[in-house]
Amino acid sequence: MAMLGLTGRSLKSRHSFCAISSFTFIGSHRRAFTMAEHVTEQIGFNKPKIELHVHLDGALRVETILDVAKRRGITLPARTVEGMKQICVIHQPATLTEFLGKFAAYMHVIAGDREAIKRIAREFVEDKAKEGVIYVEVRYSPHLLANTDVEPIPWNQKEGDLSPDEVVHLVNQGLAEGEAAYKIKARSILCCMRHMPSWSMDVVELCKKYKKSGVVAIDLAGDESLNCEAFPGHRMAYEEAARCGIHRTVHAGEVGPASVVKEAVEVLKAERIGHGYNTLKDQVLYKQLLEQNMHFEVCPISSKLTGACHPDFTEHPVITFRKDKANYSLNTDDPLIFNSTLHLDYITAKDYMGFTEEEFKRLNINSANSSFLPEREKKDLVNKLYEAYGMVENTVFLNEALIKSA
Ligand SMILES: [Zn+2]
Repeated sequence: MAMLGLTGRSLKSRHSFCAISSFTFIGSHRRAFTMAEHVTEQIGFNKPKIELHVHLDGALRVETILDVAKRRGITLPARTVEGMKQICVIHQPATLTEFLGKFAAYMHVIAGDREAIKRIAREFVEDKAKEGVIYVEVRYSPHLLANTDVEPIPWNQKEGDLSPDEVVHLVNQGLAEGEAAYKIKARSILCCMRHMPSWSMDVVELCKKYKKSGVVAIDLAGDESLNCEAFPGHRMAYEEAARCGIHRTVHAGEVGPASVVKEAVEVLKAERIGHGYNTLKDQVLYKQLLEQNMHFEVCPISSKLTGACHPDFTEHPVITFRKDKANYSLNTDDPLIFNSTLHLDYITAKDYMGFTEEEFKRLNINSANSSFLPEREKKDLVNKLYEAYGMVENTVFLNEALIKSA
């Protein structure tokens, strides 16, 4: 989900032991359980994974928010981790306004602070490594973390001296430090915000400038009712991205209709679709995207708590994607705000949607193939997965057979 309105961007969250974790999986034939139980007790797929759709500012540690607030002398409505979680986390399907309120509760603590921005990027990589992720593409709006060269200045901050450009530099540094420490690969995607078309050309310029330092793509997040006909700034930015070989993904068909997906593909030349659930409501478009092998970045827990999908997971659109052998990934989106982890998304797919180990392998290989890495690095990543999944022998065998028959 991506946020909008005054604050713009995508909504949602992480970690898992809220005292009143009363998240019940509706429509399940199994007993009700809490997220905390699941996250602490189970791992859905205990093998290397790829994550392609997660928002940096929706994946912070609550402890870090408290720490930074203390250092900066910012008063928060709660002083403890549990108290702050109560404020940041959504437990039941919520309205967009409620979501926006979650970001507004802490973004002013991190935005404009160099040390904090670098820290959240480094910690993000550590958290992903602990979940068994070996390659992640993390996205954020540089403008929403800045306090100068951005109009309007977000989160009611006073003007400072941290520009969107320097934000990208700091995130790159934090991610690189995390990569070195935790031995996984992390790349970033810069978000345009639907309600702020005047930022979009900046965003594509930053993608170009930092292409060699970890930025792999451009994204468009926010209120899907704001289409690109009415806001040509996004279209121009995406045209420039396509012209310069910058990869493109777009949040579309999450809560918006299939026409937003169509626009993303046809006008913005999206190579991947963030969510895309409502594509299923236009069967002609869906068939066309299946033929094109379009990648859908699916976020199960997110889609329930944002109200994007029916709360009964047994009716989730990803079940149709699976049946049709579509190309998709499983992702957290905003683990802080959903009090979730990637394990919870996999457990949900396994327990409530009938996903098997084989499907988890298939979707991760598809995710690696749909990553925005350069071709050679992508091949290496895919091979790593084959090896980890015990699928390498077949390939070797085939290669040997080919050599012998040559
Ligand atoms: Zn998102």
